[in-house]
Amino acid sequence: MAAEFETIVGIDLGTTNSVVSIVENGRPRVIGGFGESILPSIVGVDAQGGLLVGHPARNQLGLAPERTVRSIKRRMGEDCRIPLGKQEFTPQEISAVILRKLCQQAEADLKRPVKKAVITVPAFFKEVQREATRVAGELAGLEVVRIINEPTAAALAYNAEPDRAERLLVYDLGGGTFDVSLVQVEGGVVEVLASHGDTKLGGDDFDRLLLNKVCDQFQEEHGIDLRESPISHSRMLTAVEEAKKRLSFEGVTRLEEEFIAEKDGVALHVDMELHRGEFELLIQPLLQKTLTCVDKAIQDADLTTADIERVLLVGGSTRTPLVSELLEEQLGLPLRTDVDPDLCVAMGAAVQGALISGQDVSAVLVDITPHSLGVEVLGLVRGQYSPHHFARLIRRNSPLPITASDVFTTAVDGQKVAVMDVFQGENEDTRLNEKVGDFSLEGLADVAEGNEIQVKFTLDVDGVLHAIATERATGNEKQITIDNAIRRFQGQAGDEARDRLDRAFAASPELQSNASDAWDKNGLDTEESAVVGTMSATVSAPENPELAQLIDRAEEAIRLGRPLKSVAADEDAEELDQLLNRLQSAVDTRSEAKVKESLNELEDLIFYLQDA
Ligand code: AMP
Repeated sequence: MAAEFETIVGIDLGTTNSVVSIVENGRPRVIGGFGESILPSIVGVDAQGGLLVGHPARNQLGLAPERTVRSIKRRMGEDCRIPLGKQEFTPQEISAVILRKLCQQAEADLKRPVKKAVITVPAFFKEVQREATRVAGELAGLEVVRIINEPTAAALAYNAEPDRAERLLVYDLGGGTFDVSLVQVEGGVVEVLASHGDTKLGGDDFDRLLLNKVCDQFQEEHGIDLRESPISHSRMLTAVEEAKKRLSFEGVTRLEEEFIAEKDGVALHVDMELHRGEFELLIQPLLQKTLTCVDKAIQDADLTTADIERVLLVGGSTRTPLVSELLEEQLGLPLRTDVDPDLCVAMGAAVQGALISGQDVSAVLVDITPHSLGVEVLGLVRGQYSPHHFARLIRRNSPLPITASDVFTTAVDGQKVAVMDVFQGENEDTRLNEKVGDFSLEGLADVAEGNEIQVKFTLDVDGVLHAIATERATGNEKQITIDNAIRRFQGQAGDEARDRLDRAFAASPELQSNASDAWDKNGLDTEESAVVGTMSATVSAPENPELAQLIDRAEEAIRLGRPLKSVAADEDAEELDQLLNRLQSAVDTRSEAKVKESLNELEDLIFYLQDA
């Protein structure tokens, strides 16, 4: 079938990575096997003067930065020459090397010559930069049949119903640049209504912030600045970028780089833990800048969010979960992440190529999870602490297969069991979601509250969920498999039921206050209890003044009571210890009824002990 049409590949010539795609049997396909479809946009010259492209060039970046170049896209259109070892190249020539490599990959895969291509460029590229891109294509031996804007390509890849007019917001956050466009799509024609961006904002900046944090810490400990040596700087940059990527799927990750420096003849290693929450604090100001651009683009297009149907996420950095969270919060619009954000621009370029060659093209369809999946923990529900907080691990619309993990902590001292109730749905209150299974991690170490439990979900292409809970300190582990985790409650009936419940909940103030009552009655004991979401627990709930006063009083009582343990008789000391623990967990969970109850008892006991 495909051979009847002219072969026109679609190429995303990216700042960080490049991808080539083709339409076959009406569907776009990215060329290259799993993990091999993305070519790092890095070119180098080896010690013998031979050219290196992609991964080999990336590997030599740390060792021979003077013979290697990355992010050449930023220099396109400049009249300059880039030295690589003893040779010099123009930006067009370096881009041509990348394009030629992509074409070779395509030819090897398709087993026929590739002579024509559609190449994408950022919407903000000026004419001279577009021309330089066209020249790069020609130098690579290609006829560039069209240069199209990246948001246009993304919209073509996503437009599921070509006959329906749609307004889309394309949020593209890559390695070096940020771009937001409002586009109108109809009948395969994409019109860009407004575009904004920042040509110097992207994942590279996130890497730099993380690098500085890690290097500052290392310098404090060892008195050595790893940024001063080009080799250790480059090694650390690669390591933090990998750690950053892991933080998109894991709440906590380990950064390890061995033999990174030497002091007094002793080798030094980097070995530290990075938490997603800390990383998010670092990048939040940058993401806020992108949101300002989003607002400006909407205003420039003379639209409001009500006029926009969907938001498309493009570019590797949109995998950072905070990006979706902030966008959802600001726009209140459905986000589409079902086409791989690294691949959708190339796929859209291939769709454009196929349309030029006269093919019928269907939408890009991938298997996605229709619901979010997570566990029930203690945390905020409608601004109040509740044991029914839904801690989402896998977001709705994630392409399958997917793995995600996060770390939670036990809520009380000596907690022996962590119960994992697994839910699917979109509500922050698990009672409005669907329970799909549960399991318990037993035999936890007898330690104070705050014992870390890692929960990891893997959802495979058949919708089977593999859930594992691990006590981090001991490695104690429990796992379950839930078949059809995402299918069981799928469909309109489930959605309708959820909408109905949502409406009922919103309309009933009584139901809302019951949420915290139910929580008080449930109480907590050290045998079996939920876990606290570390992220959500750090968010403080808006408190009523009465509760705040009560908590101040409780904290004062705890402060007074603790030293009495060492002077009280054994029996009294034991009772005091239990009361202190009970009150502390009531304070931590902001449970008014339980604070009152334990506080009265503790104050009485303190009075008695001080008197004795
Ligand atoms: P692009 O220019 O679209 O290829 O995007 C490349 C950028 O995406 C780089 O800064 C990568 O570090 C970043 N990136 C790729 N995968 C992830 C991920 N899983 N989480 C966060 N950032 C990522």
